[in-house]
Amino acid sequence: MIDFHQQPSDLRAFEGTRNRVREFLAAEIANGTFKPWQVTWTSFDREFSRRAGAAGFIGMTWPRAFGGGECSALERYVVVEEMLAAGAPCGAHWIADRQSGPQILAHGSERAKRAILPRIARGEYAFGIGMSEPDSGSDLAAVRTRADKVDGGWIVNGTKVWTTNAHQVDALITLVRTSPAGERRHEGLTQMITPTDAPGITVRPIRDLSGHHEFNEVHFENYFVPDDMLIGDPGTGWAMVTAELAYERSGPDRYLSAWQLLTALIDRIGTRPDRLQSVQAGRLVAHAMALRRMSTLIAGLLDRGANPSVEAALVKHVGTGFEREIPEVARLLVDDARDGDRAIVERFDEALRQVLLAAPSFTLRGGTREILRGVIARGLGLR
Ligand SMILES: Cc1cc2nc3c(=O)[nH]c(=O)nc-3n(C[C@H](O)[C@H](O)[C@H](O)COP(=O)(O)OP(=O)(O)OC[C@H]3O[C@@H](n4cnc5c(N)ncnc54)[C@H](O)[C@@H]3O)c2cc1C
Repeated sequence: MIDFHQQPSDLRAFEGTRNRVREFLAAEIANGTFKPWQVTWTSFDREFSRRAGAAGFIGMTWPRAFGGGECSALERYVVVEEMLAAGAPCGAHWIADRQSGPQILAHGSERAKRAILPRIARGEYAFGIGMSEPDSGSDLAAVRTRADKVDGGWIVNGTKVWTTNAHQVDALITLVRTSPAGERRHEGLTQMITPTDAPGITVRPIRDLSGHHEFNEVHFENYFVPDDMLIGDPGTGWAMVTAELAYERSGPDRYLSAWQLLTALIDRIGTRPDRLQSVQAGRLVAHAMALRRMSTLIAGLLDRGANPSVEAALVKHVGTGFEREIPEVARLLVDDARDGDRAIVERFDEALRQVLLAAPSFTLRGGTREILRGVIARGLGLR
């Protein structure tokens, strides 16, 4: 079995936290509150998030004044990787903890910070991401949802798409155009906090390949946003989106999506694997550990206030490629005809079924591989 105790030295300082989150997760599993999922960080369970918040596992790096724990990003990393490795249903706090909360903390108004951050930290306030549009995914500067200035705020009109969990969250951070694109297309974009229970917003479901309802189309019609629910000044949205993507692209969620399948595969091939099985399983585990090293290095850079967006693009590119490889390798390594312990066979079959259907999305969400290669090439000065 793969043991996270064998870890980069910079994580060793947080063994106490690791043990604490493991105890929390073991109690959750013993109480039957969740069955380990394969696509863990989008599985939405408000009650789980409330308990995680009460245990101090959300908003860990934020100031105490806003409900945080004033921990380092590396300590948070330990909690996040344990949650993912256990298959915990983190979807109701994932986006808020990973990126919306940090954005509000860094650039939000005092009212937004006081009203929203403590609720996120308690696991009571869920966020989604309102960036992509029907004609604008990779090319975010082309967004057409616009906000027009009125007394005391802005009126938003337009449509967002692929908005994960929009039907369940309390608010989105929505990227809109607040002034026309000039010569520089990235100017004139702004991020806003848009609660989903306000008038003027309609959320419609989109079913994915596996039949699940996680995606949505979100339509804004004359939707009012008060001035103090803007994140930063009008027109500063692009810099924020790119900084936000460093958080979105570098974490353990970018290589642990198929983790349950990898551990199920290792159990399935058993203690006497043939040569191909041992070489391939060993290669996957070694690859995971190298990715973990890269990803923790970025957590360290974020801790020091850097904006490692190129490094994060690299981790996501390699990490999501790895996640997609796991089901392909698993399919080739396991001989269906070979008997095994029934529980182990069933867990492997179920994990493989789920991951096969989810895998195509691993390399799309958060920026496609082609776009990441462009970011990396630019960072290396090649374009
Ligand atoms: C599971 C999942 C969850 C998601 N959740 C959210 C969410 O919560 N909120 C949100 O806002 N969005 C979300 N998205 C949307 C996601 O960010 C977009 O799908 C992604 O950025 C790609 O945009 P697109 O779908 O419009 O594809 P397009 O941009 O139309 O791209 C189509 C193809 O063309 C390629 N391409 C495009 N431009 C270039 C270029 N310049 N050079 C080379 N190749 C290029 C792309 O790589 C891709 O292969 C999610 C997507 C998935 C799969």
